[in-house]
Amino acid sequence: MYNKNVAYFYDRDVANFHYGESHPMKPHRLALTHSLIINYDLFKKMKVYKPRRASLEDLIAYHGKEYVEFLQRVAPDTSAKETSKFNIVGDCPGFPSVYEFCQVYAGGSIDAAHKINHKDADICINWAGGLHHARRDEASGFCYVNDIVLAILELLKYHSRVLYIDIDVHHGDGVQDAFYLSDRVMCVSLHKYGDGFFPGSGNTDEIGRGAGRFYSLNVPLHDGVEDAQYQSLYEPIIQAVIDKFRPDVIALQCGADSLKDDRIGVFNLSLYGHAQCVEFVKKFNLPIIVMGGGGYTIRNVARCWAKETALLVDTPIAMDIPFNEYFEQYAPSYQLHPPPLYHFDNKNTPQYIDDVRRTVLEQLRQLECAPSVQMHYVPKDFFMEDLAEDEDSYDSNGDFSSENDDLKVDRGDEFYDNDRDIDHDTANRDDYCY
Ligand SMILES: [Zn+2]
Repeated sequence: MYNKNVAYFYDRDVANFHYGESHPMKPHRLALTHSLIINYDLFKKMKVYKPRRASLEDLIAYHGKEYVEFLQRVAPDTSAKETSKFNIVGDCPGFPSVYEFCQVYAGGSIDAAHKINHKDADICINWAGGLHHARRDEASGFCYVNDIVLAILELLKYHSRVLYIDIDVHHGDGVQDAFYLSDRVMCVSLHKYGDGFFPGSGNTDEIGRGAGRFYSLNVPLHDGVEDAQYQSLYEPIIQAVIDKFRPDVIALQCGADSLKDDRIGVFNLSLYGHAQCVEFVKKFNLPIIVMGGGGYTIRNVARCWAKETALLVDTPIAMDIPFNEYFEQYAPSYQLHPPPLYHFDNKNTPQYIDDVRRTVLEQLRQLECAPSVQMHYVPKDFFMEDLAEDEDSYDSNGDFSSENDDLKVDRGDEFYDNDRDIDHDTANRDDYCY
C-alpha cells in the first residue's frame, strides 16, 4: 500500500498563454501533460488542486517591486528603454497577460510549499513551475518570476535545510544566485556547460560564497550525455548530499529539455534515465516539491511528466498512449517512450565523468556538517487567509468538482500547430540559444 499523500496543481488557463509565433516555449505542453495524466487515470491517485494565483505581495517576497509592477503593465507600446531595463525583450517577450501567466505558475509552486509546510501533502507536483532562470529584477531564458525561489523561501519558514536539485539541460542559475550566500539551501545542478550554451554559468568552481561556501554544487556536462553516465554522477552525488547536508525537504526541477530529441537540448537522456532521477530522490522519503522547467519538444515533455507523475503516485502505466484529445501528437508510435530520432555524439569521456564526480564529491567532503538553524519567528504564510474556501478538487471522473467543464481545455491548435510552428522541425533547433 502506497502511503504517500500526493498533491497535484493545475490551472487549465496556464496552457493558453502564448509567448509568440515560433517561440519554442509553449505553455500548451501543459495541456498535453495534463490530458495524459487524466487519461492514464493518475488523478485518482492524488489530490488535484487549482492553485491560487500569486499576488504582488507574494511575488515581492523575492522580486523587486518595481520589476513586478512593470510586469503588470507591460504592453506592446511600452518603451524599449523600459523593456530592456527588465530584459523583457527578445526571447523573454512581454506577451499579452504575461503577469497573469506568472501569477498562475508561481501560485502553484507557492501553494505546493504551503501544503508541504503544513504536512497536507508528502509530494507536490506543479509542472507549470520550475522557471529557474528568472532574476530578482529581470527576466531571463523564458522565465519572468522565479517560482522555485519563492517556493523555497516559503519552505524555509518551516524547514531548516532545503535541497534544490535541477536536472534541466540548462544551469539553474537563477536559483543558485538567490541562495549563493546561504547554508540553508543546497543547490545541485547538472547541465550542459560550454560552447556558449545558455546561460554560460555552472562550472565546478561555482561553489557558493561566505556562509554559502560549498552549498552550491555544479555538474557541467558536454553534449550527448547518456543515461548510464548521467546516473553515475547523479546518484553518488545526491546520495552524498543527503548524507552530509541532511535536508528536511527537497525541491526538484525536472526540466525536460535534458531529454533526447529536445528541440533545444543537446543530451541523449531517455525517459527512463530522466525518470530515474525522480525515482532516486523519492527513495529518501523526504517531502518533495516537483516542478517542471524547460522542455521544447512538447509531445515528449508530456510523455516525460506523465511518466514521472505515475512514478510519484507509485502506479505503473501502459506503454500505449491512452486515447486523448491530443492523441495525434504521439504518432506514429503512440507509445509512451518515443522512438529516438537524433543522436548527439557523446563528448563526455569516461575520464571526464570521473574527474567531475571526484571534484564535486571532494567539494562535499569539505562541508563541515549540516548547519543547525534556530527557528524563531515564522513569517506569515502566503495565501493563509483564504486557504479554507479556495481549494478546488477533481471528482472521480477527473472533472473539477466545483467547475465540471473546467477540464475541457481548448486545444489551441490555432496557436501551436499551424504551418509556422516548428515543433516537429529539428532543422531549426539552432535558431534558439536557450
Ligand atoms: Zn532548460
